[in-house]
Amino acid sequence: MSPGFDCLIVGAGHAGAHAAIFLRQHGFTGSIAIIGDEPELPYERPPLSKDYLSGAKHFERMLLRPAAFWAEINVAMLPGRRAEVVEPSRQILRCTDGSSYGYANLIWAAGGRPRSLDCPGGDLAGVHRIRSRADVDAIGAELPNARDICVVGGGYIGLEAAAVLVKLGKRVTVLEAMDRVLARVAGAELSHFYEREHLAHGVDLRLNSRVRELIGERGHVASVVLDNGGTLPADMVIVGVGIVPNVEALAAAGIACGDGVEVDEFCRTSVPNVYAVGDCARHANAFAPDGGRIRLESVQNASDQANCAARAIVGRPQPYCASPWFWSDQYDLRLQTAGLSTGHDQAIVRGDPTTKMFSVIYLRRGRFQAIDCVNNGKDFVAAKRLVGTQTAVSADRLADPRTPLKEMIPSANGGQPAAQDARARHGDC
Ligand code: FAD
Repeated sequence: MSPGFDCLIVGAGHAGAHAAIFLRQHGFTGSIAIIGDEPELPYERPPLSKDYLSGAKHFERMLLRPAAFWAEINVAMLPGRRAEVVEPSRQILRCTDGSSYGYANLIWAAGGRPRSLDCPGGDLAGVHRIRSRADVDAIGAELPNARDICVVGGGYIGLEAAAVLVKLGKRVTVLEAMDRVLARVAGAELSHFYEREHLAHGVDLRLNSRVRELIGERGHVASVVLDNGGTLPADMVIVGVGIVPNVEALAAAGIACGDGVEVDEFCRTSVPNVYAVGDCARHANAFAPDGGRIRLESVQNASDQANCAARAIVGRPQPYCASPWFWSDQYDLRLQTAGLSTGHDQAIVRGDPTTKMFSVIYLRRGRFQAIDCVNNGKDFVAAKRLVGTQTAVSADRLADPRTPLKEMIPSANGGQPAAQDARARHGDC
């Protein structure tokens, strides 16, 4: 007979681990198990393209909690097994190793897998991605023999990896298909700032550049052929072109999925007792333009959605309306982002980018929508409270770094408290 759990969690990443933690914090006394296909206990993924890649951080320091913690809160860890089939009608989950488990509640927190390069040579040895500890260990093992490294994709992960590798003395080329880096997530002002920084550190940055083919020698990548016919030497290629959400098992079970598992404001999927959280969950986000349905790939979202699902399971539901935030470390630059800049119609640079301490504020229809802060924690802390207030703000005041952002928070000048205002805007949450 299959062992059964009151709550079975698939995915031992940020979202899965936090779902278990929040369930206990909210007083859930039933049995909990986490199934994960990696061999490790849940760990932080962000250092993979930062301090773990550079060798500055040991893996043990990346564990979300020490091993003893999971025993203390009575959560069964089932690592090294992959969930394959979900049978909602029988509330059973089956794994590729033949094991199966019953569940009263299922939380799907399976994240995503890196998109591969779909060009000839994309599967050669020496072509890497950065999603797991195993990925970075494989890169680390080859690094001593790699001199020319080509990073495909100028998003956060590609740029973070480039920053680390160039500091390790490698000759690094970044290939970005669009006309600027970070095009999907930030405004042009921020993109151009990061482009200048990477060029100044010696990265060969190629915009509007697509890979046509990877050429190998004895099965190992040796060069990259570009769309324009140019060729670059490459002992190693790192592909950072986004992820594909892991939804296949749920889709096969008839659960509504598109680019992610479709969930409602309580992280409930289209079938009872099955929830989805984190990178794989497609939800209506009040901070997206017009409250659109999106997936968010961030630690904030993984943790806050885990909390949302846990609350729903313990019978104290609260709609998901957490304010998005994110960070990225490159060289001596800490970027902190609050809100979502997608769909902005005005960008205001606050401060002087040449000082490497400034912010870019994004407005939509004259209202504060999001901010990117470079080495500017003060702006970030205040802006986290401004995002979502829909405060109409004067562009001149925003552009003046001598005017603290906190003075513009409604509660700070006698208006409605920011958080309350955000809740009002986002309806009932
Ligand atoms: P994951 O952390 O990916 O966890 C999903 C887990 O499920 C994985 O262990 C996966 O192997 C497992 N799994 C998948 N399918 C199955 C299955 N069928 N059966 C069992 N297990 C399965 N976010 C930030 O906010 N700031 C950053 O600076 C930042 N940097 C990042 C750097 C890197 C290199 C990466 C990869 C991500 C970064 N992120 C960052 C994003 C952040 O790490 C993710 O948003 C977060 O990890 C999502 O958590 P998750 O639990 O949804 O998915």
